[in-house]
Amino acid sequence: MRTLIAVLSFALTVVLSSVAQAAVDVVTTIPDFGAIAKEIGGSHIKVTALVKATQDPHFVDAKPSLMVRLNKAELLLVTGMELEGGWLPALLTGSRNGDIQRGGQGYLNCSTLIPPMEVMAPDRSKGDIHPGGNPHYWTDPRNGLRIAQGITKRLASLDPEHAADYAAAYSVFSTKLKRKMVIWRAKLAPHKGTKVVVYHQSWVYFIDWAGFVRAGALEPKPGIPPKASHVADLIRKVKGQGVKYIIQESFYPTRLSKIFAQKSGAKLKVLPTMVGAGKTRSYFDVVDNLVNELTR
Ligand SMILES: [Zn+2]
Repeated sequence: MRTLIAVLSFALTVVLSSVAQAAVDVVTTIPDFGAIAKEIGGSHIKVTALVKATQDPHFVDAKPSLMVRLNKAELLLVTGMELEGGWLPALLTGSRNGDIQRGGQGYLNCSTLIPPMEVMAPDRSKGDIHPGGNPHYWTDPRNGLRIAQGITKRLASLDPEHAADYAAAYSVFSTKLKRKMVIWRAKLAPHKGTKVVVYHQSWVYFIDWAGFVRAGALEPKPGIPPKASHVADLIRKVKGQGVKYIIQESFYPTRLSKIFAQKSGAKLKVLPTMVGAGKTRSYFDVVDNLVNELTR
């Protein structure tokens, strides 16, 4: 009997300690929120991203495997502003997980944490894929800080036992990011006013923070692939204005960007905006790389 009690009490201890150690299951759409969440949550959370760093986040295949991934999630981090509007709603329904539905405690729309840009009356008739404003806000490190703060608060309310650890990790993260921002500012200062053309309007927040100037976009509207005639018009329009760069992500075709570069004298830069693309392994790497590549 005594042995049985000892065995049972040992088993109970194992169960209880595994409950106490169970990491909060965090799922994010884009990997950048996951990278920031991991900086805050450390070993108290486990993180999966639904979007690959090299994938266009507007267009993701709503595969059943992603629904399964969402089924047990305790916190879902989304970009919002319709970035995932074409694929996430179907996954959320298919996940059969009441905790992470829109508006719930387990659903954090990170766009509610930042000051949005390009919010105007939606014009879906023309195929604009930014009807809710521009959703590409995470490359501005000021927003990175706001996102980290929002994630810290939400983790603390979902897992109050580790709230002090989350607060301490946020303090480390914000100190490092603020220190980096001073360095980035110094690098960017001599390049203030650099004129850039973009492929997709995914750079407006970064450009705003960096003090660059937007000279145009290859896509006539967000999500509408450029035609050669539009690019030719753009080349005529910016001729002699000293556009320094044409910037795009690797998941967009480069054919027309190369033509634009050749005819306008701008340099083509294919740059990652999501953690894991290229050589980036952290949120700091993403901004570091953008600043370094665009201040050479
Ligand atoms: Zn977009």
